[in-house]
Amino acid sequence: MNLILLGAPGSGKGTLAKLLSSKLRVPHISPGDILREGVKQDSPLGQIAKPFMTSGSLVPDEIIMKMMEKRIIQPDCGKGFILDGFPRTIVQAERLDQMLSNSGRSIDFALKFEVSDECALERLGGRRICSVCDADFNLYTKPPKKENVCDICGGKLFQRADDKEEVISNRVKVYREQTLPIEEYYNHQGKLIRINSEPNPNVVLKEILKVLEVG
Ligand code: ADP
Ligand code: ZN
Repeated sequence: MNLILLGAPGSGKGTLAKLLSSKLRVPHISPGDILREGVKQDSPLGQIAKPFMTSGSLVPDEIIMKMMEKRIIQPDCGKGFILDGFPRTIVQAERLDQMLSNSGRSIDFALKFEVSDECALERLGGRRICSVCDADFNLYTKPPKKENVCDICGGKLFQRADDKEEVISNRVKVYREQTLPIEEYYNHQGKLIRINSEPNPNVVLKEILKVLEVG
């Protein structure tokens, strides 16, 4: 199954993408994760992407398309994939459709994660990530047992640069202006499914599996 996850920053797409990926046994592909890894390694891609990411703006379409084309032709995507954070613009959505149709594939569904603004802000502002194993915590909803320390590996927790309050408002603005229109793009194709993403992740997962009629 080829799925796209849509939703505002803080809507919980990343969390559900991981759960869905292990349930459906298809790869979870997140351009945000690939770019953050590039920044961490200081690769050429990371160097280009960093200023866009730290200001909460989008990385240019050309760069994202090249990166995603390379990923989606990998053999592990043959049995399906979950795209989390891509496409994010109409241009990306059109080029993705084109690319998939060239190899006789298409998107099955676009899941739109819906949460209130308050809930999204709490998720973003409270998010803390382990610098060693990438596990994520939330100060409000899933606090670590010991302040600033990872429950799993004891690594130090940090806040993502783009989860700082000043950057969050720009991410939300960019989302409304550039990403929200693609919801209509998939709605028009009859592929949009709206999901209430306020409950805890396992409840949301069950709901999704029910509407997809798997599990
Ligand atoms: P979010 O939690 O807002 O969904 P992500 O982890 O998906 O964040 O992405 C973080 C940043 O990476 C974005 O703010 C943007 O700068 C860049 N990025 C990720 N995906 C894309 C994309 N499809 N197009 C352009 N930029 C992207
Ligand atoms: Zn850890």
